[in-house]
Amino acid sequence: MTTLDERITRHRELTQKRDEIDRELQLLTDELQSDLKAVLGGLTTGKPQKPMTKPKSIRKCGTCGAEGHNAKTCPSARKASSEVIT
Ligand SMILES: [Zn+2]
Repeated sequence: MTTLDERITRHRELTQKRDEIDRELQLLTDELQSDLKAVLGGLTTGKPQKPMTKPKSIRKCGTCGAEGHNAKTCPSARKASSEVIT
């Protein structure tokens, strides 16, 4: 047998616990959602940010002198007149 007072106290305790759980759940849900967004965002862009390691060798383009491509793939060779350097 529990008294009314005990039940009221218990009820209050349980309510507080439920509130704590709700709060933590909400926090966790928010965190998970932002994590998922980050993961999904990385998937949709196709290129998650890799830490840049230094390239083994830097080849300079024989056509325009820029790094990162060679004369065969040189963008300025295709676009003869324009100087588009990104
Ligand atoms: Zn080039």
